[in-house]
Amino acid sequence: PYDVLIVGGGPAGASAAIYSARKGIRTGIVADRFGGQVLDTVGIENLITVNYTEGPKLAATLEEHVKQYNVDIMNLQRAKGLEKKEFIEIELENGAVLKSKTVILSTGARWRNADVPGETEYRNKGIAYCAHCDGPLFAGKHVAVIGGGNSGVEAAIDLAGIVKHVTLLARSELKADPVLQDRMRSLPNVTVIEQAQIKEITGTDKVNGITYIDRVTSEEQHIELQGVFVQIGTVPNTEWLRGSVELNRSGEVIVDKAGSTNIPGVFAAGDCTDSKFKQIIISMGSGATAALGAFEYLIRN
Ligand code: FAD
Repeated sequence: PYDVLIVGGGPAGASAAIYSARKGIRTGIVADRFGGQVLDTVGIENLITVNYTEGPKLAATLEEHVKQYNVDIMNLQRAKGLEKKEFIEIELENGAVLKSKTVILSTGARWRNADVPGETEYRNKGIAYCAHCDGPLFAGKHVAVIGGGNSGVEAAIDLAGIVKHVTLLARSELKADPVLQDRMRSLPNVTVIEQAQIKEITGTDKVNGITYIDRVTSEEQHIELQGVFVQIGTVPNTEWLRGSVELNRSGEVIVDKAGSTNIPGVFAAGDCTDSKFKQIIISMGSGATAALGAFEYLIRN
């Protein structure tokens, strides 16, 4: 068995792997997609000591750093179950079962769906989730951004530089940081509609518009456009842990100050946990915490 098996290869998992391997203990890391959300990010300016980097570059350096140590990297593998027997067993979708004395869960999060008619139908046919990734495909077009939080406003600012016009639709008033709102409102090709309840994303073979209800007047409105970016936050990748590890109402793994979960020997870190803020540096810090927590557990048991 491993001493520490990490499930998830984003900033949290990479950090946990490095901290574990530096203790000289047998460390493995399983990841569906090494790099995690960072792969979908373009500019990163808040990773302290790094003035500016880009997602794929950061993902590559994460992997390179992990490879400096004796860590078994199992990329492109998805975990589907966790069970505590003599060891903690992680079952993979390919049928393999990995055993370890401790496990660190760092499966991160993914985009939240808008759950409106048309969304499934037109996904990748005009509906996108990553402005940085798919923005250029909409050059010269009119697009909507759904979501008035930081990610929505950031996406609107980003897209405004590429597309012809951006309409930002928010369910209530904008919740984004004032500095972002100011920047967005200074742009001539961004329209903001607050109190908009999305009714449907319309289309033929691809998106051709969006219909919403004005929550103040209850009137239905339709806008013709060619693209929709859904930016309403993320959901933790923890469905596979339901029934084994304690999760909160949002599906986040509940951890204590050492990263411990309700199962002895099972730790968690990063965006899949109930940490208040979700950022790269925070994930890296909590990955280190979970690794040290797991090491302490190993020397006591
Ligand atoms: P993730 O990065 O989500 O990694 C999760 C890992 O787990 C991945 O390897 C995934 O493949 C794997 N995984 C998931 N499920 C399974 C499974 N069942 N089995 C095996 N592996 C699994 N933060 C900043 O600090 N600065 C920024 O500028 C910034 N910009 C962002 C821009 C965008 C577009 C996005 C989406 C996020 C941004 N963030 C930013 C947030 C930051 O990316 C996350 O906080 C951070 O990546 C979380 O790290 P993590 O390791 O917890 O999870």
